[in-house]
Amino acid sequence: MWVNHLFLNKIFPQINLKTKDVSGWSGKGMHTTTFAEMYDLPFGGKIIDTPGIRELGLVDISKQELSHYFPEMRILMNDCQFNNCMHTEEPNCAVKNAVNTNKVSAERYISYRNILDSIDEKKY
Ligand SMILES: [Zn+2]
Repeated sequence: MWVNHLFLNKIFPQINLKTKDVSGWSGKGMHTTTFAEMYDLPFGGKIIDTPGIRELGLVDISKQELSHYFPEMRILMNDCQFNNCMHTEEPNCAVKNAVNTNKVSAERYISYRNILDSIDEKKY
């Protein structure tokens, strides 16, 4: 999944304040100007933004947990028909209903789905 700083800053505005350069992480002795940056997420876990290989790593977040980190979705989850709802294809999903009626922004929902797709279920 390709991401850039604008995308990261949009979904996690807080990390703007905590950006740090992880020097030496992106490969010792490589003659390149690319470098990896690691962001501490406000809810724990880390994002590693690696311009060189165009890959985003999300660590320590399961698909089931992800919507907990979107406050406007979290408050709706109890209204979903299934308590393990991931707000994708399930019927009677309160989150999708809220997106359809503009109570949750479609942009945020798309961010949610993009991140969801990037999480490797097999790890959990
Ligand atoms: Zn749902």
